[in-house]
Amino acid sequence: MAVDATHDPARRSWVASANGHPDFPIQNLPLGVFSPPGGTPRGGVAIGDMILELGAVAPLLSGEARRAAEAAAGPALNPLLALGAGPRRALRGALSDLLAEGSAQHEAAAPHLHEAEACALHLPARIGDYTDFFAGIHHATNTGRLFRPDNPLLPNYKYVPVAYHGRASSVRPSGTGVRRPRGQRKPPSDPAPSFGPSRNLDYEMELGIWIGPGNALGEPIPIGEAAQHVAGFCLLNDWSARDIQGWEYQPLGPFLAKNFCTSISPWIVTSEALAPFRIPQPQRPEGDPAPMDYLMDATDQAEGGLDIALEVLLLTPGMREKGMRPHRLSLGNARHLYWTVAQMVAHHTVGGCNLMPGDLFGSGTVSTPGPDGFGSLLEITEGGRRPVALPSGEERRFLEDGDEVIFRARAEREGFAPIGFGECRGTVLPAQS
Ligand code: MN
Repeated sequence: MAVDATHDPARRSWVASANGHPDFPIQNLPLGVFSPPGGTPRGGVAIGDMILELGAVAPLLSGEARRAAEAAAGPALNPLLALGAGPRRALRGALSDLLAEGSAQHEAAAPHLHEAEACALHLPARIGDYTDFFAGIHHATNTGRLFRPDNPLLPNYKYVPVAYHGRASSVRPSGTGVRRPRGQRKPPSDPAPSFGPSRNLDYEMELGIWIGPGNALGEPIPIGEAAQHVAGFCLLNDWSARDIQGWEYQPLGPFLAKNFCTSISPWIVTSEALAPFRIPQPQRPEGDPAPMDYLMDATDQAEGGLDIALEVLLLTPGMREKGMRPHRLSLGNARHLYWTVAQMVAHHTVGGCNLMPGDLFGSGTVSTPGPDGFGSLLEITEGGRRPVALPSGEERRFLEDGDEVIFRARAEREGFAPIGFGECRGTVLPAQS
């Protein structure tokens, strides 16, 4: 994961809003799909408050970068994701030069900028498959404790990067309303289940992981090559109906509790953009088993961790009415994942399963050891027993209709320009009557 001239904190853009932009300075250059007003969906790169259309600037580029920009011209970035790290890095380098102050092609590129505010943002790729991991060990422990006070972590947790196969068809970009699901609910105290709208609707703060090049069926991706199959990252809200989940999850895991909607931030923050924010995978606590050989790689252990701050905010109808700002529910960090992304890729494929360009992973809910960074209401309110008090005077055990959940993420490191992910928002809509 090389740091190069594209990460230079001194580099500035002729797109004025990019300089000092909290999310999208010239050092980020995340990839997405947008529609300008009256236009069709197409690939773009976020720069400050603007979006540069990739297909339109392809003729200004050359070689691999040009080929990559052409692959991003259509309504989904799968062709670009399939090209892999080389062309993606070439595109990043060329875009950084194109958008930098003093670029000779400033005049030629400027007409292909669109005001982000006026554009619609879409899913960046067609998602063939979506898999949700469970790598946030503090979340796994906290939620396990609610159900099994003496034995919060199941014995497989420290050996297996646990996951379930999720539902790709209901993944939606930030801003899409989230209809409260109906289903079978059964609180432990009730003798039988009832049917109706979920009463315990929750969010889960996760990192989304975009797969680049895939692998052939029957040909696992070795851990040492796994990072090359990861194109980038986004924010992911694994909306969860806890009352439906509690009744249905045994013996085969989550089903309707999580398949009604998954929200993601629309920009793919590339692996290259995050190079300065890689950290060693934190040492496992004394007594934990070492990862098995197929999950162990020295380079991955040295730089497979991610230092990304993850913030969850809530805006309720009551707060909106009073003109209040969203209230921060937690501030966590991706460094608390027990498994690296490369370990997830190696494990997912070790039995021969094939990944495809544009597949999406969720990291699992990221929680901190202490309560300031718990990534779900289930943990913050201890299963609904201790409501959160909000500045509007309202309180919440779980989400109510009209509540908007907002995720933000930021990577910062001394000597580098901080970058952000943009937002992942979703407002809870009433259940269908
Ligand atoms: Mn989840």
